[in-house]
Amino acid sequence: MAKIFCVANQKGGVGKTTTTVNLAAGLAKVGQRVLMIDLDPQGNATMGSGVDKRQLKLTVYDVLLESASVAESRVKSERCGYDVLGANRELAGAEVELVEVERRDKRLKQAVAECEKDYDFILIDCPPSLSMLTLNGLCCAHGVIVPMQCEYFALEGLTDLVNTIKQVHANLNKELAIIGLLRVMFDPRITLQQQVSDQLKSHFGDKVFNTVIPRNVRLAEAPSYGLPGVVFDPAARGSVAYVEFAQEMVERIKKM
Ligand code: ATP
Ligand code: MG
Repeated sequence: MAKIFCVANQKGGVGKTTTTVNLAAGLAKVGQRVLMIDLDPQGNATMGSGVDKRQLKLTVYDVLLESASVAESRVKSERCGYDVLGANRELAGAEVELVEVERRDKRLKQAVAECEKDYDFILIDCPPSLSMLTLNGLCCAHGVIVPMQCEYFALEGLTDLVNTIKQVHANLNKELAIIGLLRVMFDPRITLQQQVSDQLKSHFGDKVFNTVIPRNVRLAEAPSYGLPGVVFDPAARGSVAYVEFAQEMVERIKKM
């Protein structure tokens, strides 16, 4: 049965999508069966996995509204080695359409239950908000991976996310836990980043992943080729770090 993880942080541009697609590619590289679900109407994780969001007939939108199953809607990204349940702008409408329906926060969970046996990992790229879409992701997951930049306000933003996760845990999904905080876009030459990183470790202990993702321009260039950095340039420092992170995740789930 698959272990399901949301990559979430309500702050925009912190590296959620980069983490989702590179972790997916890294896990595939070490032999894991992976489904990547794009829960963001921006569709960046879809495009960044080599799947054209404009060409998709079925997306996670159809799954949320129960007009299609995951099995019907997923596509294989041959170059990346994992399956993709894509998203495009249509998904922005789901937020409103779901208001009217029953079990609106459990739609994704129910749909995913049917395909859990096909995978070792299911990764969900969340939008930069604590919306109904993110809530569907959190209700479906065993754990949350929180990418964060080691900046001054990083810890402050974390409080809202931690509180939301606590509430979901208490009311909607007993299994949900923060798996870990992933330090991304890290530049050890910047003293402040080092300080925030140390603060994170003293605050959150082993909830901070050992792997640190460096700031690396190859990771930023890869999406314009429709690929995760891990596939686009496997030798780049950032790509090597994400494969290391994939291995750390494989070890972590053995203890879950
Ligand atoms: P949003 O909140 O809009 O969904 P996000 O949290 O998914 O954003 P990304 O899109 O992954 O963030 O990253 C934001 C930008 O930072 C992108 O241009 C991406 O290419 C770049 N980026 C992410 N990680 C790194 C890294 N380790 N080194 C250099 N650039 C990076
Ligand atoms: Mg994103």
